[in-house]
Amino acid sequence: MAEDRWISESLFDDAGLRTSYRATRILHESKTEHQHLLLFESPHFGKVLMLDGATQVTSADEFIYHEMMSHVPILAHGRAQNILIVGGGDCGIAEEVLKHDTVQRLTLVEIDASVVAFAKDYFPEFTRPVLSDPRFELVIGDGLSFVEQTERRFDVVIVDSTDPHGPGEVLFSEAFYRGVRKCLNPGGIMVTQSGVPFLQPRVVQNSVKAFRTLFVDGGCYVAAIPTYTGGHLAMGWATDDIALRNVSVEELTQRYERAERFPTRYWTPQVHRAAFALPRYIDELIAQP
Ligand code: SAM
Repeated sequence: MAEDRWISESLFDDAGLRTSYRATRILHESKTEHQHLLLFESPHFGKVLMLDGATQVTSADEFIYHEMMSHVPILAHGRAQNILIVGGGDCGIAEEVLKHDTVQRLTLVEIDASVVAFAKDYFPEFTRPVLSDPRFELVIGDGLSFVEQTERRFDVVIVDSTDPHGPGEVLFSEAFYRGVRKCLNPGGIMVTQSGVPFLQPRVVQNSVKAFRTLFVDGGCYVAAIPTYTGGHLAMGWATDDIALRNVSVEELTQRYERAERFPTRYWTPQVHRAAFALPRYIDELIAQP
């Protein structure tokens, strides 16, 4: 029996922090055209996907991030029919989005075809329902180019990117956010993966600053995701309709019930509302001019 390996995440090396996972089996390792791709099995977290040394998805806690990045903007919007996901090649968020019968069309733009191909083999729980859904369209390409060139319009744009280095760097640029704004229908919402404020303060600070130059309401909401080390994960929030962050628990409950009440394990109407109540250190971080 091969000795278990310990595999460390290098994303927070600058902060002097490494999270290590006991790996009982390496399922796949490759260098794609864009990034290093590693999937392994761990006793407690199940399948763990790392891209360029950063944890992306684990079987054990993927539901938290995927539910909060999909149900919050869709149920806050209330009438979202056309959705765009930029990144998200593992299809975890796409699977959650397609649970909404109100969604008529979902487009996913992923730069690395290897991630989708790999997810078909190793995350069929996500890819099987998504790739067989007639509402789903996959585009292999760069998210920045797509939003700048498309004539399409969307009600919700979900930026499920890696962190701001490598191919994901452009997805944290003002040019990208400007392109997303061009693609949004009136009353549309953009949400983004905006890092762990305690360890990556500049990520959410710079994102929200850019949102506020382009949208009426720019901010973030949070969720605690065990394998996104360092406390709360910030999810960027940008829209021109300031009311959308304040939809009541009663209204969210009604919208959820109208959406055929698919089961959730993290999102609830109360958790949705509470996610916008930021810890003071995060509030102060994004308040800075
Ligand atoms: N949940 C993860 C997280 O929070 O870090 C992200 C998951 S998903 C695997 C991130 C995806 O973004 C990757 O598949 C990566 O290939 C894709 N990506 C990175 N840069 C991109 C770009 N410029 N355009 C489109 N997709 C991109």
